[in-house]
Amino acid sequence: MLVTSTDLFTKALAEKYAIGAFNVNNLEIIQGILEGCKAKQSPVILQVSAGAREYAGSIFLRKLIEGGAEIYPEIPIVFHLDHGEDFAICKDCIDNGFTSVMIDGSKHPFEENMRLTKEVVDYAHSKGVVVEGELGKLEGMEDDVKVAKGEGIYTDPDQAAEFVEKTGIDSLAVAIGTSHGAYKFPLDAKPELDFERCGKIAELVKIPLVLHGASSVLQDFVAEINSYGGEVKGSQGVPEAMITEASKHGVAKVNIDTDIRLAMTASMRKNLKEMPENFDVRKPLGAARDAVQKMVEHKIDILGSAGKI
Ligand SMILES: [Zn+2]
Repeated sequence: MLVTSTDLFTKALAEKYAIGAFNVNNLEIIQGILEGCKAKQSPVILQVSAGAREYAGSIFLRKLIEGGAEIYPEIPIVFHLDHGEDFAICKDCIDNGFTSVMIDGSKHPFEENMRLTKEVVDYAHSKGVVVEGELGKLEGMEDDVKVAKGEGIYTDPDQAAEFVEKTGIDSLAVAIGTSHGAYKFPLDAKPELDFERCGKIAELVKIPLVLHGASSVLQDFVAEINSYGGEVKGSQGVPEAMITEASKHGVAKVNIDTDIRLAMTASMRKNLKEMPENFDVRKPLGAARDAVQKMVEHKIDILGSAGKI
């Protein structure tokens, strides 16, 4: 069933767990995620980025997600736009079945971010759609969103309070040390997230917080990819214990993309290598779908959303 995130987040905040927001690009990813949610009886956020819309097209993605909602009626599914960059993109999604949109004005100066975000909120709310805003800057790269190393800015709690009050957003993406992509922290660095800041923001804004760039870059999968001929360079993500910890500090939505990509890539490389005579593409794609499901079930355990339907 397609829903907005309002009730899901209220329950998540009260019971101190978070809901996974997984990026979707094709049929197998959507099937794998929803099978995982069914096995764990977890609500879920399926999110579509600019890159996904470019790859699959927004109509295909919408129809696939609507299909998922019909096949898994018991699972609350939020259909979310990830990193909407302007009003036109958000409006198009609001008018075409999305139940939630993100307007990412974080690249703009504070006042312009507020103006743009408020414009999206006014339109979205008039159509019963909820809005995620962003304040602060995450380093790294995700589709068209690129911020160079050293140019990230942590979210300021007082500014966040003003931002939320003046825009009326429903949830806020914060920068507290995570980053986009597979190269988050060097292997010899100690990953740290600013939980004190996170808790302070949560206390002031009184709406659910969102953690972007929260994959853990699980090393077993990197090693498996490389053992089957891949060349994914070493780096580490956000340790999973920190993701669990974040849900105790006001975070109700955690974005995970890279870990699913790694699981699929590892599975496809292994399958293609081990079955050199096979040319039925359903074999590697089916194995990749199973790998997505396994990863999603694992993430649901980390986030604490199992049994929360
Ligand atoms: Zn993001």
